Amino acid sequence: MAVMSGGKQDEFFDELEIMSAEAREKYLNQRLSQTVDHAYRHAPVVKEVFDKAGVSPAQIRTIKDLEKVPIVRKTDLIERQKVNPPYGGFLAIPPEDVDRVFISPGPLYEPIQTAAIKWFAKSFWAAGFRKGDVVINTFTYHMSPAGILFHEALRDCGATAIPMGTGNTEIQIQTMHDLKVTGFVGTPTFLMTIIKRAEEMGHDFRRDFALQRAWFTGEMLPASLRKTLEENYQIATAQAYAVTEPGGAIAYECHQKSGMHLMDEYVVEIVDPETGKQLPPEEIGEIVVTPVHNKGWGLIRFGTGDMSSYITEPCPCGRTACRLTGIVGRTGDAVKVRGMFVVAKQAEEVVLSSKSVSRFQIVVRRSGQRDEMTLKIELKDEAVDRKKLADDLNKRFQNLCRVKIDHIEFVEKGAIPEEHQKIVDERAWE
Ligand SMILES: [Zn+2]
Repeated sequence: MAVMSGGKQDEFFDELEIMSAEAREKYLNQRLSQTVDHAYRHAPVVKEVFDKAGVSPAQIRTIKDLEKVPIVRKTDLIERQKVNPPYGGFLAIPPEDVDRVFISPGPLYEPIQTAAIKWFAKSFWAAGFRKGDVVINTFTYHMSPAGILFHEALRDCGATAIPMGTGNTEIQIQTMHDLKVTGFVGTPTFLMTIIKRAEEMGHDFRRDFALQRAWFTGEMLPASLRKTLEENYQIATAQAYAVTEPGGAIAYECHQKSGMHLMDEYVVEIVDPETGKQLPPEEIGEIVVTPVHNKGWGLIRFGTGDMSSYITEPCPCGRTACRLTGIVGRTGDAVKVRGMFVVAKQAEEVVLSSKSVSRFQIVVRRSGQRDEMTLKIELKDEAVDRKKLADDLNKRFQNLCRVKIDHIEFVEKGAIPEEHQKIVDERAWE
């Protein structure tokens, strides 16, 4: 299971994590070719989509080639399943070979072969889960995949897994106490709820509990909360990015906690959601996923609707896969300005980090052939040096969002309504 590399025994879950860039490219291209060939032959909807787009499987031999294939979205899956039940033509194995079926809102039926899901364990392994750990899994075990898949992945790491499911805060607390639980799997919000409740019950969390590590998915972990958990409660934290439809954890943090390594069981593209074209490192776009280890589900280019970017710099942990930089929003929240996507959450990160700003709004207009971006600002502190603030915001905005603000306007208090959109795109009306 664990492999040795450069004396770092026990560090990596498998050899895929430390492939060279050339080996990875070759590996993924080969897997992709096999996946596309298989899906085209066995999943009727894949053949239909390829034929309609005038693409043959033989034309899809590299990740770059995927641009020729239309993106499939969750709404397509749901619609297709309604018209052609139960799997909408996406099943690429005989129905009797399906081990289990997950159900997500829609409803959407997701057929899974358990043999195909081992790689979840990588994420828990990187977070430090090992034999000897006793872990509560607080994700639901009903209908959706998280409970049972994470449970099996924890077992693959050798840990003891307790199927707690959601809710029941006080039973979770008692279990953690009685069984000397060392690991938590769930959302950051729920872990904080547990800690707060335990404190209200009179416990000293550090003294009375054995919790050492926590693994999160389902919501991004805010930096402030991470700091609280790690510094005040000495809980090592790790998070992963998981999406239900393509079958799981797509990227995961190592102990560097600086971006999430992409798993080699998927081909992950960051694309312009409007054109489907792949974007270079550090540019924000939609995460599009093709599982290459799940033969059962003919899902080629699944559009997640989540916006992120990736970096290619080597990670000190030794894992060689590129890293996702975090989820910055949904495709619906992103506005394209001079070819770059600007997402409200990123703008907020820059603008509201200044203590003297109380509210802001970005307005995008067209001036001739050019997109122009105006940042409107309401000040908390009227005495602030406006020129200095504007220069500073402009610089940091450009660093993070990679596009320059054209005008910064200081507006009077109340000029931006309380319930306001962070980014307003006025180009459609011009
Ligand atoms: Zn790393």
